[in-house]
Parts: sequence; structure tokens; C-alpha cells
Amino acid sequence: MKVQCLQVGPIGTNCYLLCDEENKVCAVVDPGDEAARIALAVRRSGCTPRVVLLTHGHYDHTGGVAGLRREYPGMAVYLNREDTPGAGAPEMLFPTVPDTLHYAEGDTVQVGGLTVKVLHTPGHSKGSVSLLCGDVLFSGDTLFAGDCGRTDLWGGDMEQMLHSLGRLGLLDGDLTVCPGHMETSSLELERKRNPWLRQGMRMLRP
Ligand SMILES: [Zn+2]
Repeated sequence: MKVQCLQVGPIGTNCYLLCDEENKVCAVVDPGDEAARIALAVRRSGCTPRVVLLTHGHYDHTGGVAGLRREYPGMAVYLNREDTPGAGAPEMLFPTVPDTLHYAEGDTVQVGGLTVKVLHTPGHSKGSVSLLCGDVLFSGDTLFAGDCGRTDLWGGDMEQMLHSLGRLGLLDGDLTVCPGHMETSSLELERKRNPWLRQGMRMLRP
């Protein structure tokens, strides 16, 4: 298993290639923009992309989906249903591709020999998920290095955010945290220094 990060788009969204090098397949997490550049990185990885996994529906995480799918028509695209654009949905949720599949709490997605587990972690948006694969946590805009995502956008909720962060903090062991923006971290470091994560953990386990 190998993880590669590309920062894409005007506000530097972290797009990740999650590669099963043995089986030569990969997942693309949050192709937010610059589909051609992502496709180039995929080709260089030597892996065939099987799935796009979206941590949530905001345009800066989904903007490259359609372009990437034109390159790789066989790819399935997954998003939590609650971040699907529709009635009452805000301008931040853009349609991705018409046949987007939905995943939810407890679901798993297979990427070759890798199993990705879906944790529903609302707070930044209603349909935000975190994705756990081995000892790597793709935390989207829920958990950042030293911080957490905004909760003032449509569907955001601070109470839910703290609950979601607490849940992540209480996961077993140490994990590499790959967030949707800015630098990577480790769960152990965040348990020590992240005030929001700590507050969430206290809420769940006083
Ligand atoms: Zn977002």
C-alpha cells in the first residue's frame, strides 16, 4: 500500500492516490481539480484507478471527478448520499457524475487487496465521511493538522463536528492522518495538541 498526495486547485485541496502496488490498482481520494494532472500521476503510478472516493461533496473536492472519469470511464464514484446536490442544497455542492454511488457508515470499499472502511463523520457537511485503510485515515475536512474544518457552511454543525472528532480520536492506535487540506499528521500528535479533537474525546469519554 502506497499513498501519494497531490495538491490541486486554487485553494490547495489534497488529492490522494491510494495504491495497491501488488495488484496494480488504486483509488483516487478527492480529485478536487486538475483532472489531467491527476491522470498523469495515476499513469506514472502504474496503477489502474478503480474508484473515486469522496470525503464530501464540496466543489473543491469533487471538481476533477468528471474529467478524470472521461479518462477512466470504468471508475466507480462514491459519495455519501447526504452530500448529494438536490433540494435545498447549497452552491457548494456540485454534481459529480450522474451514476455516483452512495456509501455510508460501516460500508467498505475494496481496492484490490486493500479494504477501505467508511466512517460517517458529519459536522463540516452532512455527508462528510472519513476513510480508514490500514493505518491511514483520510479525514477530509473533518480533522486537520492542529485544527478542524469549518462548520459555518450549509449543513455544518459544531456539535456534530466535536462528536465526529471525538470518534476519530478514540480509534485504536496511531494512524497517519491525511486531511483534505494542509499537511499530514498523526492521530497520536492530534490527541496531544488538537483542542477540538480533545474536546470531542472528552465529550464521548469524560
Ligand atoms: Zn469542504
